[in-house]
Amino acid sequence: MKLSEIMELHPDWNIVVSTTDMDLELNCASCGQKVSFGDTYTSFEQTTDNGFFGLPVCPDCYNKELKRKGLSH
Ligand SMILES: [Zn+2]
Repeated sequence: MKLSEIMELHPDWNIVVSTTDMDLELNCASCGQKVSFGDTYTSFEQTTDNGFFGLPVCPDCYNKELKRKGLSH
């Protein structure tokens, strides 16, 4: 999904595209769980509206994405 679609579905989620503050608490762009920016991964499936950048997702969601792409065992 794109950022604007995610924000429409979940207006209360704090989704941060990029920050240098690794301790910043935000919501996973996929499942919405609270996670520190330093613990997130760049999503393949959740992106900025122009599709150029992946949004931060939690390790669980990232692993699921890798499995869907066939990149993980
Ligand atoms: Zn997640």
